[in-house]
Amino acid sequence: VKPRTMARVGELAGAKWTKSTCGLCSIGCGVEVASIDGELRGIRGRSDHPVNLGRLGPKGLGQWQANAHPSRGTTPRLRGPEGGWSECSWDAAMTRVAREIDDAISMHGPGAVAFYNSGQLLLEEYYTLSKIARAGLGTPNIDSNTRLCTATVAESLVASFGADGPPGSFADFEAADCIVLFGHNAAEQSTVLWMRIMAAKSGPRPPKIIAIDPRRTATAAAADLHLAVRPGTNIALINGILRQLIHKRWFDRAFIQANTVGFEELARTVEPYSPAKVEELTGVPASKLETAAEWIGTSPAVVSTCLQGVYQSHQATATACAVNTMHLLMGKIGKPGCAPFQFAGQPSSMNTRETGADGAYPGYRNWANPTHMKDLAKRWNVPVELLGKKPVTAPEIFEQCFEGQIRVLVVLGTNPAASFPDRDRTLAALRNVFLVVMDPFMDTETAALADVYLPTAMWGEKTGCMTNAERRCNLVEKVIEPPGEAKSDLEILVDLSRRLNLVDKSGAPLIQYSSPAEAFEDWKACSAGTIPDYSGMSYKMLAERGGVQWPCNKEHPDGTERLYVDPTFPTAPELVEGALKDFQTGHAHTPHEYKAIAPDGGRARLLTVAFEEPLDTVDASFPFVAISGRQVYHWHTRTKTAKVPELAEAAPRGFVAIFARDATKLGIEDGDMVRIVARRGQVIAPAKVGENVPEGVVFIPFHYGDLALDASADAIAPDLADPVSKQPVQKYSAVRIERVDGRDRWWREP
Ligand code: SF4
Repeated sequence: VKPRTMARVGELAGAKWTKSTCGLCSIGCGVEVASIDGELRGIRGRSDHPVNLGRLGPKGLGQWQANAHPSRGTTPRLRGPEGGWSECSWDAAMTRVAREIDDAISMHGPGAVAFYNSGQLLLEEYYTLSKIARAGLGTPNIDSNTRLCTATVAESLVASFGADGPPGSFADFEAADCIVLFGHNAAEQSTVLWMRIMAAKSGPRPPKIIAIDPRRTATAAAADLHLAVRPGTNIALINGILRQLIHKRWFDRAFIQANTVGFEELARTVEPYSPAKVEELTGVPASKLETAAEWIGTSPAVVSTCLQGVYQSHQATATACAVNTMHLLMGKIGKPGCAPFQFAGQPSSMNTRETGADGAYPGYRNWANPTHMKDLAKRWNVPVELLGKKPVTAPEIFEQCFEGQIRVLVVLGTNPAASFPDRDRTLAALRNVFLVVMDPFMDTETAALADVYLPTAMWGEKTGCMTNAERRCNLVEKVIEPPGEAKSDLEILVDLSRRLNLVDKSGAPLIQYSSPAEAFEDWKACSAGTIPDYSGMSYKMLAERGGVQWPCNKEHPDGTERLYVDPTFPTAPELVEGALKDFQTGHAHTPHEYKAIAPDGGRARLLTVAFEEPLDTVDASFPFVAISGRQVYHWHTRTKTAKVPELAEAAPRGFVAIFARDATKLGIEDGDMVRIVARRGQVIAPAKVGENVPEGVVFIPFHYGDLALDASADAIAPDLADPVSKQPVQKYSAVRIERVDGRDRWWREP
């Protein structure tokens, strides 16, 4: 993608350069954005930004071109009785939205309204949405598309440490002696972080890299050790590593005794996972497992990461917790080069969790803790009865839409019609409600179903914050005006709160601010004293420093590089963010039950469980396993990246990667069209025959939701979810491969 983008950068004489932050992924690279006469013209990395030091990946380099795409919405639209859309004024659109919400609540109660949001908006927007939904309308139906991507992150951090919040810093990757990537194709997903890892690799203290992935990805190819784990067997592998650490005495007894609970049970649980047994279960040779455990156990500093290979699998939360356990066992946390990174994926998915726009409450408050809820009610000056409602997850929201309990659904900055599993039921659910879609683009599969479409400003057209995967809050600056009449999500939400006449206990408007800076101040006050404490930050400070890591307050005026340095963990009943849940059933301990099992003295939990076979079983009718993943050129359903010519050209359409020997047996050649049939759906796409998927496995990139081609990896996902995080299983589907007539006429070797 470089030549054309760089040529455009060369045409930038006289451009105005504005400092900002990349809006594509959770790395949060600092950028400078070029504009001429109110149009975006180019981008470059900020050499003074601590995250990227001038580097950018292909998505970051190309993103500015999506802003001017002709599919941008410029005026609100209403669907008429005949089914067609017509343009309308903002007043007409917002009057209709407010009336539908009012009617739904007066007839069916607050639970008749739901919000499904994103990891792409700004902190100030999530916070305002959370306040409107929880304190204004009193609906518990608010969740984010992070349910599909990193809901497991929060659950695992709460289970292991007591609260959400990644403990480490990106600087730990440079300080580590060993980096372990569990189901994280960092070279394609976290491009600039991968560049930092590669730079460390060629430095004076090169870390050993271990990649755990069924595929030989670019990451696995560059790693020192690739453990090609059989899909669906992550936890067996990690249990094997934990057993080796215990058997070889590569653990820190003093740390375990002072700071953790559960060692005996852990040792019992992992004992059956000998290297030979792990080889039998996972396909990873015993010698490789032993080497991995030795590197992890004997390296003074170890960083690990998890991503979708862990989170979108069955036993997801348990697996992520087992990785946390690995660090606790060795006392390798809260020190330079030592951290488990349960990775955020989207650029602002951290903010959805911090502000309570997903299934959490703002400031990592515990919805079941009356003291936390009283505190929040006091700060918002609203009746406490509005709060403390059990959070509802996105799958439950869509189910309630399908069943008719939810009457109005507002979708902000995300595209569930293309990305949510079980597409037929999701489409039926979206058609069964009054659907309001707030999105910069009119051409998404979800916008096409909207009763009201509200055009929104996107990255580069509004100001606010995004917090990256190392807790660094970055400022995203407005560079140009949005097209036509499009407005920021914040402006729309503030307008909605006024039209709904949402007030606090004194009768004053619930949302008393209108600008992003004022919203940030309101959030600072809400977060003060909580774990994600932003109270010491200001926009000026963020702009000058290239982001600040929370907590930032009087005690930590410059922010905080690492959590759990002391280490005290917030697992006490009065501090914990959520109840410990059963890994098999998802059952949450009641507050009373939790008191009985809460660790004393701020200790963390050493957690794992026994391996269970995936439920979507391989048999004679479905003899292969389909897995899904990413390509470096695209982000999620390509709403933005498909609109960047270089990225679209580099990876134009979906495919199915098939192992060469499997393809030969089935008489399939490169470029032949194939049908991948699962128990619940099918995918038709051209075959890409090669060696980077293992025998018996097919790989489908998950970006392509094109209904005409029927190439959506989600179409074949089983109807299964992790019991704790409710994150759908999208990494394991039993399938068969059928050759269909014809070849892909566009096919060329990608
Ligand atoms: S790594 Fe992420 S934040 Fe950095 S340039 Fe690439 S997409 Fe943007």
